[in-house]
Amino acid sequence: MTIKIGIAGYGNLGKGVECAIRHNPDLELSAVFTRRDPESITLLTPGVNVYPMEEAISKKDSIDVMILCGGSAVDLPVQTPLLARHFNVVDSFDTHARIPQHFEAVDEAAKEGNKVGIISVGWDPGMFSLNRLYGESILPGGHDYTFWGRGVSQGHSDAIRRIEGVKDARQYTIPVEEALEAVRSGKNPELTTRDKHTRECFVVAEENADLNRIREEIISMPNYFADYDTTVHFISEEELHRDHRGIPHGGFVIRTGNTGWEDENSHVIEYSLKLDSNPEFTASVLTAYARAAYRLNQEGQSGCKTVLDVAPAYLSAFSGKELRGRLL
Ligand code: NDP
Repeated sequence: MTIKIGIAGYGNLGKGVECAIRHNPDLELSAVFTRRDPESITLLTPGVNVYPMEEAISKKDSIDVMILCGGSAVDLPVQTPLLARHFNVVDSFDTHARIPQHFEAVDEAAKEGNKVGIISVGWDPGMFSLNRLYGESILPGGHDYTFWGRGVSQGHSDAIRRIEGVKDARQYTIPVEEALEAVRSGKNPELTTRDKHTRECFVVAEENADLNRIREEIISMPNYFADYDTTVHFISEEELHRDHRGIPHGGFVIRTGNTGWEDENSHVIEYSLKLDSNPEFTASVLTAYARAAYRLNQEGQSGCKTVLDVAPAYLSAFSGKELRGRLL
C-alpha cells in the first residue's frame, strides 16, 4: 500500500516534491492543488490532475498527507492551519521569529481534526535545527556556529530588483573561509555579521542607468547589505540567464565543545550541505517528513510537531528491524 500525497501550491517547491515522490516507491502523488488556473499547469507525472485549491477539502478521503508548498510570507500562515483541520500536513515555514505563533495555530487546527501537522521542515529550519539540537545536547557549554552559502538569497535578489534602474539581479551569500577555519580549529572565535559572510551581487542594469548610484544604493542598503562586505558586478541579461539560472545553496552547522574533568579534550561536530537546487533538496526533506506525519497519525497522534519532535526512524521507508541491521 502506498502513502497518497497531495501537493498544495505548485512553485519551485511543489515541483521539487513531485520529483522527490518519484524517488520514493512507497509514496504516490494523488493530486496537485493551485490558486491559479489549473489548465495553466502541466505536471511531470502522467495521469495526475491539478485542481483549484478550493476543491482540496472535497478530496480529503483520497489523500493521506498534504505537502504545503506555498510561500512563508503570506501563504503558509493561512493555508497550513486551514488544511491541518482536514489533512495530515507538512510545511516548510521559514520565518524563524514567527514559528512559535505558527505552531500554536497549526496545533489547534490539527488537534481539532485529529491530524498531524509537521511545520518548518527543510534545511534551515529543518536539518540544520536538528543538528544544532544534537550539538548542544551532546556538548553543553560549547559554541554554536551556522554559516550559509554559497547560495542564492531570494530576498536579497528581490531587494536589488526594487532599485531604480535595475532590470534583474542575483545575490549570493558566501561564508568567509578564514572564519570557517577559525571555528573548525576549535578557537571559539567571536564573529560579527561581517566576519562570517560576504555578499556578491550580479546585476543587469537598464540602458543608460547610473551604475555608480546603483552600486552605492546596494552596498549601503540597511538590513540587507550595509553590515556586509558586498561586491557588485554588472553583467548582461544573457550572462545572467546563462550563468546564474540555478538555485544553489548550502551551509554549515558547527558545534565546538570540551569534555573531561578539566575540559582537557576538545571536539568539533560539523554538518554541511552543498545543494545544487535549494527547492529540490527542501522538497526531499518535506517528502521524508510526509511519511513520518502519516505514520504518527496512524499511531493515533495528533497536533503540531517540528523536526525536533519526530524520531528519525519515522522518516525511513524501511522497518525498524532492517534499519537496526544495516545502520547500527
Ligand atoms: P515559489 O515562489 O516558487 O512558489 C510559492 C507559491 O507561489 C507556489 O506554491 C504557487 O502557488 C505560487 N505561484 C504563483 N505564481 C506562480 C508562478 N508563476 N510560478 C510558480 N509558482 C507560482 O516559492 P518556492 O517554492 O521557491 O518556496 C516556497 C517557500 O519555501 C519559500 O517561501 C520559503 O519560505 C520556503 N523554503 C523553506 C526552506 C527551509 O529550509 N525550511 C528552504 C527553501 C524554501 P499556487 O500554485 O497556489 O499559485
